[in-house]
Amino acid sequence: MTAQLIDGNALAKKIRTEVAGRTAALQARGIEPHLVIILVGEDPASEVYVKHKVADSAQTGLKATLERYPATLSEDELLARVHAHNGDAAVHGILVQLPLPAHMDAHKVIETISPAKDVDGFHVQSAGALLTGLPGFWSCTPYGCMKLIESTGTTLRGKHAVVIGRSNNVGKPMALMLLQQNATVTICHSATADLGAITRQADVLVAAVGRRKLVTADMVKPGAVVIDVGMNRGDDGKLAGDVDFDGVKEVAGWITPVPGGVGPMTRAMLLVNTLEAAERAAK
Ligand code: NAP
Repeated sequence: MTAQLIDGNALAKKIRTEVAGRTAALQARGIEPHLVIILVGEDPASEVYVKHKVADSAQTGLKATLERYPATLSEDELLARVHAHNGDAAVHGILVQLPLPAHMDAHKVIETISPAKDVDGFHVQSAGALLTGLPGFWSCTPYGCMKLIESTGTTLRGKHAVVIGRSNNVGKPMALMLLQQNATVTICHSATADLGAITRQADVLVAAVGRRKLVTADMVKPGAVVIDVGMNRGDDGKLAGDVDFDGVKEVAGWITPVPGGVGPMTRAMLLVNTLEAAERAAK
């Protein structure tokens, strides 16, 4: 079997077009959806991520303001900036790019963001809303994975979904989103015994670990939907996922590539969350 490719770039493009339309509708009512991105320090990877986020916003007509601060900024100064944006009705989304410099408590900073503006979906209140099925912002990466799965036409009800990884930003919210869609969910992690025995049962398999070629063809059920969240930079400088793409594509029914799968969807869902924040504020 050769799996069908789930094209994250194409789906993200479609979502950006929808966001642009909804943004224009808000602007016609005099509302300018506005995302503030705060970058502290000069982490090279963060610089790239932030550049993409600003460019994506501009492409869809969303206003994005990038606030840059030196790594010497104090935590109190950063918290004061977040508080100022919380109180500014013209700002709808606040994103503090992680990682922060070592002298800052990232958890404290994220918890200072108003949940109504937490477009990254990292606030404890956002996580709690997902857990309890209340409205709130979903973490962008698992939210994007849900859209990728949906695009295959797969009905999750009654299916066995296996998530490898249990981080707060990816693995755990991913499992909750799949559960909300009535999948039977198993979460695997570094202490899971016989990973392959579990992943072979998966109708939907999401790998969010950060280990190149962790998932090999013999670990995948024929016809499964395989979503590869992993982003691993090889010695050759090339980006690879957690899934052995060449082997697994011969077994799976659907598969995301890396790059061009989950990455563009994570960025697209940030735009969706920002737009939704503006729409909610306008109500
Ligand atoms: P993380 O916080 O490091 O979590 C990794 C998870 O993998 C942990 O739960 C860990 O288990 C588990 N794990 C480690 N080794 C394992 C093994 N041998 N078998 C089974 N589970 C194992 O990472 P993350 O933030 O969730 O990110 C995961 C990957 O996704 C990374 O490559 C990251 O770069 C990528 N990512 C991509 C995007 C995107 O937009 N494409 C966004 C976010 C993250 P324990 O909990 O037991 O330690």
